[in-house]
Amino acid sequence: MEVHARRVGHDGPADRAVREACGVVAVSAPGREVSHLVFDALYALQHRGQESAGMASANLETVTVVKDMGLVASVFNERSLAALDGDQIIGHTRYSTQGESAWHAAQPVFRSQGALGFALAHNGNLTNTPALAERAGMLPGMLLTDTDVVAELLAREMGEGWTLSEAMGAVLPHVEGAFSLVLVEAGRVHAVRDPHGFRPLCLGRFGGVDAPEGWAVASESPALDVMGATYVREVAPGELVTVEGTELTCAQLLEPADPARLCVFEFVYFARPDASLYGREVHGTRRRMGALLAEQAPVEADLVMGVPDSGVPAAEGYAEASGIPYGQGLVKNRYIGRTFIAPDQVARARGVRRKLNPLREQIQGKRLVVVDDSIVRGTTTRAIVTMLRDAGAAEVHLRISSPPFRWPCFYGIDTPTRDELLASHRSMEEVRTFLGCDTIEHVTLEHLLEAIGAPGAGFCDACLTGRYPTRVPVEVTGATGAGA
Ligand code: 5GP
Ligand code: SF4
Ligand code: MG
Repeated sequence: MEVHARRVGHDGPADRAVREACGVVAVSAPGREVSHLVFDALYALQHRGQESAGMASANLETVTVVKDMGLVASVFNERSLAALDGDQIIGHTRYSTQGESAWHAAQPVFRSQGALGFALAHNGNLTNTPALAERAGMLPGMLLTDTDVVAELLAREMGEGWTLSEAMGAVLPHVEGAFSLVLVEAGRVHAVRDPHGFRPLCLGRFGGVDAPEGWAVASESPALDVMGATYVREVAPGELVTVEGTELTCAQLLEPADPARLCVFEFVYFARPDASLYGREVHGTRRRMGALLAEQAPVEADLVMGVPDSGVPAAEGYAEASGIPYGQGLVKNRYIGRTFIAPDQVARARGVRRKLNPLREQIQGKRLVVVDDSIVRGTTTRAIVTMLRDAGAAEVHLRISSPPFRWPCFYGIDTPTRDELLASHRSMEEVRTFLGCDTIEHVTLEHLLEAIGAPGAGFCDACLTGRYPTRVPVEVTGATGAGA
């Protein structure tokens, strides 16, 4: 029986664009303009979520939350930044799956428990939300988001007289799936990463090694760079980092999984090219994916081009390794968001036209190698192939810097059902026919990992292999691993 995978306990229809869920930041830096720092950090993480943004600030009297739908720059202004006047602040950018009505699901979420209360923000997706909601005594109708359920569980523990840190120790061992969490309470911020380390999280320092003036945690290192913090290291899977004033405490709260499971798509697509993950600058890994793809799947052609923006580094790598000239073949309207949220296939295809336009003189009569990072539904890719042919391309050879995306993700990427994933139930010849290209090749998983070049490091590749490292909330036919 084919079972469609839908995110359980999470909002929204599954037929939306594929979207990654969220970027998080936490800063404790007494004496600095912390809300301005977190604003800059969220700006740097805008690519991880464009639907809503928020911050929660704690001083010794109050916890203040400012959040709204929209881009970071439109959610905050000088007045709201001034109201966020604590030395400890967390921030969040979010993709929801619910469209306009998602304000209530914007983050951080707040609970008035303990001394003043606390606020929490989450990147990732939990895989046992209904069980957790039951544990929290929440009725199904009350269930807002997986993040809300965690906040509720923590608040209940604190209602019994435990501190926030103790509550985390009691609650988080029961939480399954992907979570990079940041929390703020009076005088402190915390950050914790799930035992698999699905989503990235890194630590940075203000001031010198000997006399730190504060600490920051963020989803990606460019957020540290923009705040003027020095990158220190990644937060380890299962680790809890607490900053009180300028004092840093680190504890292994949850037993880390072996191996860790950092999302391989962070390297392929999600993370910024200037981010550092597993000690590698992402841009270089993408170039190497393209270079290995050129070795693996050569073709005679006149021009190598990337699909902007995410396909460009791999295209440069392909061109360099193949010796075929590199050039730009498509111009992107940079004022349109990363994913165009459109209700149906026709509107999505039109969205592609809004976003990309061909450079006709560059393309005309040429045999093109077109490099992109991934194909999910194939709608975008098909529209691009059509556009290039209409602009006079003689041949279109697609080269994709990730293996075929065949399985839904349960760890923070809002992917469609299995049926909607182009490669889930089609042969490569059928995929090629659907897309209308002359040839298509995907990089192998072995080459992808070789390009990343972090020997011994562990990855999640469940959407490529069906090997889910945890239990997943629905039965997925043919899946293996803990999720089977
Ligand atoms: P498709 O051809 O499947 O409609 O779209 C593929 C394109 O979507 C690629 O260019 C890829 O960069 C982009 N894309 C947008 N959002 C996501 C996402 O969340 N995950 C992946 N893998 N690709 C995405
Ligand atoms: Fe990343 Fe795919 Fe794993 Fe989801 S299933 S965390 S997209 S590697
Ligand atoms: Mg792209």
